[in-house]
Amino acid sequence: MEIGILALQGDVSEHVSSLNFAIENVGLDAEVIEVRRPEQLVSLSALLIPGGESTTIAKQLKRFGLFEPIKEMAKAGKPIMGTCAGCIVLASKLVDQVGPREVEPLALMDIAVNRNAYGRQKESFERPLKIPGFGHTFKGIFIRAPSIVEVGENVEVLATLDKEPVMVRQKNILALTFHPELVLDSRVHAFFLKMI
Ligand code: GLN
Repeated sequence: MEIGILALQGDVSEHVSSLNFAIENVGLDAEVIEVRRPEQLVSLSALLIPGGESTTIAKQLKRFGLFEPIKEMAKAGKPIMGTCAGCIVLASKLVDQVGPREVEPLALMDIAVNRNAYGRQKESFERPLKIPGFGHTFKGIFIRAPSIVEVGENVEVLATLDKEPVMVRQKNILALTFHPELVLDSRVHAFFLKMI
């Protein structure tokens, strides 16, 4: 099977390494594909949208004709995971838009997100997170992290930081405000692969 990583902008190579570790740990026969064109989506079993700059990623999705095909993929029930900027892109509502349609999100998950809730780069931090089924804590790395300020009733909150959701799931869609690809721990990626 093929697992896609959206490779328009952001920390793609780190996710490729984490996915490869997770594929081995879970024991899947899978290959990681860097996705830049809509026709590549067809054969994927799952897609990951990395962190980076949500304004850029959202614009590129339209420019490369990936916006609607990714929505179709989600509707077909394929697992899609977004981290940080990827989480912003998955949201149904963004609460801190400066101009109209500055970022048009895919609206695949019933969450409202504040894009730069934790400020600029200097406000990056690490915190241990408790995630159900993980055993020991997971090191959450937050970099200019967004915050999830509202969750719909179909959204399951899997992890919180100071009572605020940082990892949420709605059926086949998984979103996190932290960067699991920056630690040598592939448990979040393995969790995602098990959603296939
Ligand atoms: N806050 C950033 C944005 O608006 C996301 C930061 C990140 O992905 N590390 O895109």
